[in-house]
Amino acid sequence: MSAVSTLETLLKKLTTFYGPLPVPPRDPFTLFVWEVLSVHSTPFKRDAALAALKRNRALTPDAMARVPQKKLEESVGLAGPYNEQRLRALRTGVDIFRRAPRLPDIIRGPMVPARRALKGLPQMGEGGAYRMLLFAADHPVLPVDAKVSRVARRLGFGDQQGNFTKTARSVRESVAKQLPGSPDAYRRVFLYLSHHGGATCTEGDPHCAVCPLFEDCPEGQKRK
Ligand code: SF4
Repeated sequence: MSAVSTLETLLKKLTTFYGPLPVPPRDPFTLFVWEVLSVHSTPFKRDAALAALKRNRALTPDAMARVPQKKLEESVGLAGPYNEQRLRALRTGVDIFRRAPRLPDIIRGPMVPARRALKGLPQMGEGGAYRMLLFAADHPVLPVDAKVSRVARRLGFGDQQGNFTKTARSVRESVAKQLPGSPDAYRRVFLYLSHHGGATCTEGDPHCAVCPLFEDCPEGQKRK
């Protein structure tokens, strides 16, 4: 199978298979909170914690700084273990957002200052920074986390390189050849490849027998 011009076909199959998927928040601070709550959690627990923060009106930097500590701890605790680490990360993020009220504007601007502005935020590795640029700042970029990297390479987009950053670049370049430059197109690719990597194309034991991409997938064909 040539990877050229197949991405849209693959995405259509994934869209039919999984249906609509939830989209990360568009507001930069809420997305930062969502990232912190996502680590070592499940989508269900993360969303419960985020909903509790919303009920407590704690989803702006100023509001989170003011919310009673007990309410904050209880809400964040719904995401699961590592409460202390999450609370510390949130406190650091609150300080950064309050000290830099223009951060949401900066990340919507040119790429270099945008990436620099995100550097100090805790628990926002390369994947988190790219998610922020794509979902909260409308940059047409592909966040490559472990799941996206694995699924894309198994499907023939990009190659394993000497380290994760280089591998991610290889995936991005390969995918970009087939994508129109719109943020919506990149959001769709990220959402479906990442979800597929968690639900079906798992690391150790991909469920190729039930995968809707089996016929088109070089890795699936090797494994049959
Ligand atoms: S066929 Fe297997 S390796 Fe290929 S995308 Fe599907 S689950 Fe992953």
